[in-house]
Amino acid sequence: MIELKTAKEIDKMAVTGQFVAHVLATLADSAEPGVNLMQLEHQARAMVADRGATSCYWDYSPSFGRGPFRNVICLSVNDAVLHGLPWDYVLHSGDLLKLDFAVSIDGWVADSARTVVVGDSADAADTALIESTRRALAAGIAAAVPGGHLGDISAAIGEVAAAAGYAVNTEFGGHGLGRTMHEDPHVPNRGKKGRGMVLRPGLTLALEPWWGRGTNRLTIDPDGWTLRSADGSNTAHSEHTIAITEHGPRVLTTT
Ligand code: MG
Ligand code: MG
Repeated sequence: MIELKTAKEIDKMAVTGQFVAHVLATLADSAEPGVNLMQLEHQARAMVADRGATSCYWDYSPSFGRGPFRNVICLSVNDAVLHGLPWDYVLHSGDLLKLDFAVSIDGWVADSARTVVVGDSADAADTALIESTRRALAAGIAAAVPGGHLGDISAAIGEVAAAAGYAVNTEFGGHGLGRTMHEDPHVPNRGKKGRGMVLRPGLTLALEPWWGRGTNRLTIDPDGWTLRSADGSNTAHSEHTIAITEHGPRVLTTT
């Protein structure tokens, strides 16, 4: 079932979204060479506790994971792209770090992700990869207008990937959210314009283009969580929580 949110409820999600964006920006600044991923996890835990927020990840145990998850943030490095389990790893200059974070405040969820290059030695192909997911996210948001179709968003995201030569995996993508982190509908990162449900004001979605420099196939780590590109190529991920309003798309995960 898809629940359309009122303007007041969307405002509440924006409060959560502002905190999520603040945490991601803070952690992205902390992600320097020599920093252990567990330091970032503990920094996130402290911020969640200080704010009185509820982690959407802690104790999360979906069918695909070897749950329950016992961290508040997903950290995925280089070829790892989604659901990265924070572990005892020291960041190196040039690492591609994906930070994916979702919490609930006063019962309303926001979910966002960003990719950063650690240190100053970014590979040009990695930078182009990250930029493509950001452009795709912007294109998906621009297509999230009332009267449009869900497929318009998927198509807009997928067209950016295709133009840049990246293969899209349609198994994991965006999703509805609000009272919980994962609600209907699923929003694939590839699709056809004019297909799917009609977009109405009050629909809240997490859009999350992600892909790798090589294959769209994934492998899963023995930890049961971390998803990696099957060919070991680097990956990137960008995500915002948005609301469709009468006036167009509103990004909720901004500071
Ligand atoms: Mg996320
Ligand atoms: Mg998400």
